[in-house]
Amino acid sequence: MTRVTGDWINSPAAQAVCRAIAQAGHQVFFVGGCVRNDLLGAPISDLDLSTDARPDQVMQIAEGAGLRAVPTGIEHGTVTVVADGEGLEVTTYRKDVETDGRRAVVAFSDNLEDDAHRRDFTMNALYAAPDGHIVDPLGGGLDDLNARRVRFIDDAGDRIREDYLRTLRLFRFHAWYGDPEKGIDEDGLAGVAANLAGLESLSHERVGTEMVKLLAAPNPAASIAAMVHTGVLGLVLPASDATNLPILIHLEEDRTPDPIRRLAALGGVDVAERLRLSKRDQKRLDVIRRGMASVTPAAELAYRHGADVATDVALLRAAQMGVSPETGAWVEIEKGAKATFPVRAADLSSKFTGPALGAELRRLETLWIASGFELKREDLLT
Ligand code: ATP
Ligand code: MG
Repeated sequence: MTRVTGDWINSPAAQAVCRAIAQAGHQVFFVGGCVRNDLLGAPISDLDLSTDARPDQVMQIAEGAGLRAVPTGIEHGTVTVVADGEGLEVTTYRKDVETDGRRAVVAFSDNLEDDAHRRDFTMNALYAAPDGHIVDPLGGGLDDLNARRVRFIDDAGDRIREDYLRTLRLFRFHAWYGDPEKGIDEDGLAGVAANLAGLESLSHERVGTEMVKLLAAPNPAASIAAMVHTGVLGLVLPASDATNLPILIHLEEDRTPDPIRRLAALGGVDVAERLRLSKRDQKRLDVIRRGMASVTPAAELAYRHGADVATDVALLRAAQMGVSPETGAWVEIEKGAKATFPVRAADLSSKFTGPALGAELRRLETLWIASGFELKREDLLT
């Protein structure tokens, strides 16, 4: 019998929540990412639980067991139960009743099979009982997982029309968990290609979250290429160009995958708006893209914006030209990042005031940068 083996399932938090629900006479299973990733040997981010108990019952059961219960998404059946300082999402079994393409409309159900059928991919519809044994209500989910096949449950087109975000999720899950030797599932791609227009109805926020997760995969190049071929990328990121992405990913070597750096490689218009990026990400993307478009040396970028931005720009410029970054680039960047301009406004205030003082400071700073940050305070002031 297949079971999950990770420590997470025996954590005090996981077991306390399961025990409380089971003792109240209800079914409870782990589902989704934790089960999938455990079986694949991949890291686990959060714990999702599935139960036949209704949300108000989950609240009551949790509180009765001395656990805090927060109705985080109670209208679609989710209660976050906090145990041992850890939040677990407990969601009541659901089934699709109608769909508007932007989010499936669901009703509660008593039945695990219903709950499995309203999910997106067979590998995401695997359940683990509190003792770790796997339940595969659809049959075939485990085979798909073992073959690293990201396959829609039943008909791909139907699943996509229920929630067009699933188009993007296909590419995301393929990038993370698909077999890199094999292409994306043919039926899935055909379903995507036949249902492109629906992508426009998605909120920018949901699209952005998916795209950022996709671009954080170790190597999303094949998924992005398939998004180009099916026309998805052009709709999600108009005027983008994925040609240089594989080169960038190659040049990244073992650096942590960075969605913003990779977004910069894709280009496109209104990216921050279309993906509803956070202010911080928006600003970083902007600085990186301006750096790419400029001829400012990497050392100066490092001085002005820090080593990370300069490194990103150096990698992106090299990817654009299809070469490796210049030897010595990293040393230059480190030097620029550490450099401190040695002249203060006070040093000039006897000779300059107002805008003239600012202009003189900038003139000296430019000289200093051009000297490779070598000129000393005395050199600059005389
Ligand atoms: P991770 O948390 O690592 O990103 P996950 O698979 O747990 O991966 P979640 O977004 O947390 O992803 O969703 C949990 C589960 O809920 C999924 O595994 C899937 O079964 C289901 N699910 C989530 N979003 C959708 C969707 N848009 N359509 C259908 N099922 C979904
Ligand atoms: Mg999850």
